[in-house]
Parts: sequence; structure tokens; C-alpha cells
Amino acid sequence: MIRGFFIGRFQPYHLGHHNVIRHIVYEVDELIIAIGSAQESHTLENPFTAGERVLMVSRALDEIDPELKKRVYIIPLEDIYRNSLWVSHVCSMVPPFDIVFSNNPLVIRLFKEAGFKVKTTEMYNRNEYQGTEIRRRMLKGERWEDLVPKSVAEVIKQIGGIERIREIAGKDA
Ligand code: ATP
Ligand code: MG
Repeated sequence: MIRGFFIGRFQPYHLGHHNVIRHIVYEVDELIIAIGSAQESHTLENPFTAGERVLMVSRALDEIDPELKKRVYIIPLEDIYRNSLWVSHVCSMVPPFDIVFSNNPLVIRLFKEAGFKVKTTEMYNRNEYQGTEIRRRMLKGERWEDLVPKSVAEVIKQIGGIERIREIAGKDA
């Protein structure tokens, strides 16, 4: 039984994440999807709460296959602001896992130092499928809906995500 681990901030969950997960979920028996910086929300860099991001990931998984959630764990993880202890922190919060999937240099380095097997993931259309670019578009009123799974666009609209981003960008004056 092989259990894998993948972490993102998912601000928001987009088609880059979706493509990676669509592949790695079939390389393992079970997959842990960790939601990083879980304590953050209502900022321009981290507009969505951990719970809202759980919902995005959950709905996106259903779009791939409703049976998937029987073998996927979605777990929010708060930051601990101490990289040398971070892997232990992760391990204390999620089920045991055998392999890490990541393309993030720091994540890769920290897990390798801790002796974990790490597999790098492919990048998909990184110019557009990027949280920073999607949040910029949301703020500017540009087209963003086609950069996230349909179900995720619905979640963002339901929670008033676009209005939130525009409102918190305002000045206190
Ligand atoms: P931000 O711009 O806010 O940092 P992001 O798009 O980098 O957002 P993260 O949640 O930070 O999204 O990414 C989590 C993981 O998903 C990272 O390790 C990253 O390598 C991977 N990832 C992000 N975008 C893509 C993409 N377009 N294709 C494949 N993997 C991606
Ligand atoms: Mg990133």
C-alpha cells in the first residue's frame, strides 16, 4: 500500500494543480493533499480560508471521479515558521506516507534531507495556471474562470470570492 503526499496553498486551486493531481492520484493507493498556510485568509496573497480551499479541492476531485475521495485525505496545515522542523510538523498532522510529489525547491529539499522519496511533478501552462496570475486577474476584473476547474469557479462565486478580493484591496482612507 503506497500513500503519497502533495502540498499546495491553493489560493485558488487551479488547472495546474488539477493536472498534477489527476496524474499522481493514479500512481498511489492513497493520496494526502495538504493545504498549506492554512491559518491565512482575507489577504491579497491568501484570500481564501482553509475551509474554502478544502471545498475547492473536494469539488475538483469529484470532477475527476466521485470515488476518489474514498482514498484521498484533504488536510489543512498551518505554518510553523521554522523550516528545519517543518517535515516533523507535517508528519505529526497527516497519515504516514511513502512518497512526496512536488515541484517546489524548498519542499523537495526539506523532504529529501529528512530521507523521504521525492518525485518531481510536471508543470502545466505555468504562465496562466498560477495562483498569483489568477488573483491578479480577479482583482483587475479580467477573465479567470477558464484557469480553474468549473466546480472551483462555482465555489469561488458562491463564497463571494471576487468581491472579497476587491474589497480587501481597498484603502483605509
Ligand atoms: P502562487 O502563485 O500563489 O504561489 P501557485 O500557482 O504556485 O500559486 P501553489 O499552491 O503555491 O500554487 O502551488 C502548489 C504546488 O503546485 C507547487 O509545488 C507547484 O509546483 C504546483 N503547481 C503550481 N502551478 C502549477 C502548474 N501550472 N502546473 C503544475 N504544477 C503546478
Ligand atoms: Mg506557489
